[in-house]
Amino acid sequence: MFKAFLIKYGEIGIKGKNRHLFEDALIHQIKYALKPVEGEFLISKEQGRIYIEAQTEYDYEETVESLKRVFGIVGICPVVLVPDQGFEQLASDVIAYLDKRYPDKNKTFKVNARRAKKSYPMSSMEVNAALGERILDAFPEFKVDVHHPDIMVNVELRGQINIYSEVIPGPGGMPVGTNGKGMLLLSGGIDSPVAGYMIAKRGVKIDAVYFHAPPYTSERAKQKVVDLARLVARYTGPIYLKVVNFTDIQMYIYEECPHEELTIIMRRYMMRIAEHFAQETGSLGLITGESIGQVASQTMQSLAATNEVCTMPVYRPLIGFDKQEIIELSEKIGTYETSILPYEDCCTIFVAKHPVTKPNLKIIRRSETHLEEKIDEMVKKAIDTTETIRVE
Ligand code: ATP
Ligand code: MG
Repeated sequence: MFKAFLIKYGEIGIKGKNRHLFEDALIHQIKYALKPVEGEFLISKEQGRIYIEAQTEYDYEETVESLKRVFGIVGICPVVLVPDQGFEQLASDVIAYLDKRYPDKNKTFKVNARRAKKSYPMSSMEVNAALGERILDAFPEFKVDVHHPDIMVNVELRGQINIYSEVIPGPGGMPVGTNGKGMLLLSGGIDSPVAGYMIAKRGVKIDAVYFHAPPYTSERAKQKVVDLARLVARYTGPIYLKVVNFTDIQMYIYEECPHEELTIIMRRYMMRIAEHFAQETGSLGLITGESIGQVASQTMQSLAATNEVCTMPVYRPLIGFDKQEIIELSEKIGTYETSILPYEDCCTIFVAKHPVTKPNLKIIRRSETHLEEKIDEMVKKAIDTTETIRVE
């Protein structure tokens, strides 16, 4: 029954001269989200509204599901657009709409008219009263409830008239691309895909880096990370995923440094390499899935030790989340099932029985001196041999 959608977006922070940037980014992301959906759509903006009009037959459910993944959208309203041909025609259009949309007439309603076109000959209040009366005449079972109506009959009087009564919640946030770019350290776990989602929700575009350690981590483990990136890309748009061959560096740290410090030192090298790529590709910060105290390498002391090697800000959007909360979010965004596939992770293979939980920076730095210049060559080689995969 619907050939169009009215898209509502948040107003805060987008007034003034940034507004068109926000709207253009939102339209760009809507187009991306609708690309795989069956059907052709025309997307337009008009006075603080974005309209999506189907030009062909299309899949309603799939369209709504895709729009629910576009950050910046607050509400998705399936809308009937009618030309302004006077009040009589409007009344019969609204009645036809309600009849079709609500076969069960045992409902309460309220008319909410809004006049964007000030030349409309009736005031909003007059339209509310007159339309309400017509609806009651047409459907005597309907009742008016001005406080908690089952159906809010929205009628926007513009160049054309918008009739809608449903607002399907969108994900909120800001359109991806309106707040710069960040480099996500993406592992095959539960947390980092969620961290990417959370940052992207605030309008940040994302690239990703994955540290791969063949043959200790298999081709399937890598594929799992690519699959996770693809799931995150449903929300963020295309992701450039860097796959770094980390085996030599990891083995060398394992040989030269105390085992209980391995994870921290390894993490410091991951951050250094991630920062290199972030600088090279214009990212303004690093993003990880860490949360305080979750494991030995995420205590306040460990995070400080990891952070020390970066000059860029490190964003940790899950910092105050419990594991259960992160799991629930990952289920909601659809990454959980992939994250729990059992393929090994480079961090679990060499993990020490008793890793340090309160690393001392001086000691960590001293251990790293055992690596000498050879590690710089290894880092350079890892960077030079990194594979970049475009995921969407
Ligand atoms: P996740 O579920 O995201 O793997 P985790 O709870 O397993 O997290 P750690 O293994 O300690 O935690 O990793 C902490 C963070 O470091 C991850 O969220 C991720 O951002 C980054 N990270 C860890 N391993 C890798 C890797 N192999 N490649 C890229 N980033 C990684
Ligand atoms: Mg992990």
